[in-house]
Amino acid sequence: MVASHQLAMGNGSIKAPQPENRFPASGLKVEPPASTSWNTETLRLRIAHLEGELAKRDQEFKAQELKLLSLQTELDVKVSQIEKLQDAIGYNNQGCYPPTPKHNGHRLLSVINQGPTRFHRLAVEVHRRLKAKEGVSAEPTSGLFCGGFRTHHLSTERARVRKDSSTKKLINDAIMNNDFLKKLDPQHMREMVECMYERTYTEGQVVIQEGEPGNYLYVLADGLLEVIQNGKLLGEMRPRTAFGELAILYNCKRTATVKAVSKVHIWALDRQTFQSIMMKSTQATQEEYFSFLRSVSLLRDLPEEKLAKIVDCLEIDYFDKGEYIIREGEEGNTFFIIAKGEEVRRLRERIAVIPTHDPFQDLKVIATLGMGGFGRVELVKLTDEDTTFALKCIKKKHIVDTRQQEHIYSEKNILQQTNSQFIVRLFRTFRDDKYVYLLMEACLGGELWSILRDMSYFEEQTGRFCIACVLEAFDYLHTRGIIYRDLKPENLLLGAEGYVKMADFGFAKRIGMGKKTWTFCGTPEYVAPEVIMNKGHDFGADCWSLGILIYELLTGSPPFSGTDPIKIYTMVLHGIEKVDFPKRISKRPDDLIRRLCKLNPVDRLGNKKNGIIDIKKHKWFQGFNWEGLRRQKLISPLKREVKCSEGPMDHSHFDTFPPELEDPPDELSGWDKDF
Ligand code: AMP
Repeated sequence: MVASHQLAMGNGSIKAPQPENRFPASGLKVEPPASTSWNTETLRLRIAHLEGELAKRDQEFKAQELKLLSLQTELDVKVSQIEKLQDAIGYNNQGCYPPTPKHNGHRLLSVINQGPTRFHRLAVEVHRRLKAKEGVSAEPTSGLFCGGFRTHHLSTERARVRKDSSTKKLINDAIMNNDFLKKLDPQHMREMVECMYERTYTEGQVVIQEGEPGNYLYVLADGLLEVIQNGKLLGEMRPRTAFGELAILYNCKRTATVKAVSKVHIWALDRQTFQSIMMKSTQATQEEYFSFLRSVSLLRDLPEEKLAKIVDCLEIDYFDKGEYIIREGEEGNTFFIIAKGEEVRRLRERIAVIPTHDPFQDLKVIATLGMGGFGRVELVKLTDEDTTFALKCIKKKHIVDTRQQEHIYSEKNILQQTNSQFIVRLFRTFRDDKYVYLLMEACLGGELWSILRDMSYFEEQTGRFCIACVLEAFDYLHTRGIIYRDLKPENLLLGAEGYVKMADFGFAKRIGMGKKTWTFCGTPEYVAPEVIMNKGHDFGADCWSLGILIYELLTGSPPFSGTDPIKIYTMVLHGIEKVDFPKRISKRPDDLIRRLCKLNPVDRLGNKKNGIIDIKKHKWFQGFNWEGLRRQKLISPLKREVKCSEGPMDHSHFDTFPPELEDPPDELSGWDKDF
């Protein structure tokens, strides 16, 4: 072996590799140089040769790489086919995927909805390597699914199935017991409850078949089901259980079989209906924005697609009286369109010219919204536009004494002077020989009372939202020296956005600060002890009724109730301390109710120096976004869909009433001359 050669190059030196190792990979034979010193020409030739060789090898390498990639793909496809076959024979389930659940309700359900199996994951991997995008499809996978039930577009109206309130409650409970479903918006949940349809299965019948595509969500109403995976019994399911929920999101293979042990009643919802429910509210908003933008002169001539893009970017913002929208000197990067404010002013001007004695010259009745003690409340529209209002029509023949006349004037005067989004707005009053009329904003979300009736009770979050709206209204009224005196779910209406608005101001009174009033009024279940005892009452009576309302919203009935008012009053005088609260009322609302319903009005929260603010600061409202509520930034848990096709004329959230047949007698005494 020769020791390394020393190449003389200038004044430096490099170590030359040993000749036999010089080009080991190429396999070239290298002639040893004729002399011990290499000449430049030989080196140049060798380099050129080697470069050529390298390029050739490079090409060969690339070809090998391509071949490897195609083999890899082929292998993956083969592996996935093997997995599929293993799935079919149940091989995979004996391993660790999907995880075998224990006999535990929650996990049991998640097994049924495992979703993509290992096969799917591998398939996805192959696609990823081939640069294909992974797709999750919500299209139905089986023809049976389309033909078996119904095909829907966006109308869930036809999909609704009549149910009694106990069935609605059962389905609702099942939804709320399900970790995934309970996160849905309440209005979507309500619509789901409405649209579920009944199915019955006899003993031994299969509800869900392992390995088959899933297209339905189910709620077990009655009977017993068993869950089987790979022939092994995993457990049972009892009524008030929702299962198969992944199927309403997208196609998935059922990973277990569900079979009827006895005759069972099940409520089902298909994916298409579910998707319609979810899409409908978004689409209604989009349509509303679109037609609104079309009405803006600057944008009227824009092409549809441009307008649609603007719709996507629109955000609604609310500004209170006195609030700045743009400040001088500020950098401007937002384009504002006034949506409502201008509209209200224009409408007020339009309404102002309707003759006092003939409201129906410009108002057309669409439907009856409700019946009050003295007459009906009609949904009316201005003859030449779509704007609707609620017209309270009070038959004068019923107003037989001055106290009733005072109440009607009180409602008119107080509503005329209030301007709060939490209180129903009064636009105008009219009178003719038979009636006096109050033209108010129409609250098309319906009555809180009927929603509570359908839902049986509210979850804390929903109850808190309603009470927060009521507190805003109370705050507004009390700081202006007005007491309301008739709080109850029946007098709370919902606007289109699901925000609560206080209505029916027949018992409201301006008493001023530090004053009391003595007239007995209110509703037995809600009246405060000092009203019953005729000790004189003030804002504390509203605080008492607020405690009662919290209780009723969270449980479905007030703490003091019964058919005989005297018995109710007796219970009220015994106080809230004697009432055992159900477990549904947790510690914080329990504490708040008891602080509001103190027997002595001066001890009541909300009736002290700071007024309503003390209630807002109670722990039950910890973290509540009051600013968001005032600016209508919070999504109401009670927002209900107002049908976009009918827009402001949708009265579907109200009961139906027979037509008015009576022609009441004239009443010309003139007590209403200032109406
Ligand atoms: P009242 O005479 O104020 O007790 O109203 C009777 C019923 O009419 C209420 O229970 C509601 O169902 C309905 N109603 C009253 N005012 C309105 C309104 N502004 N918007 C919608 N519905 C209303």
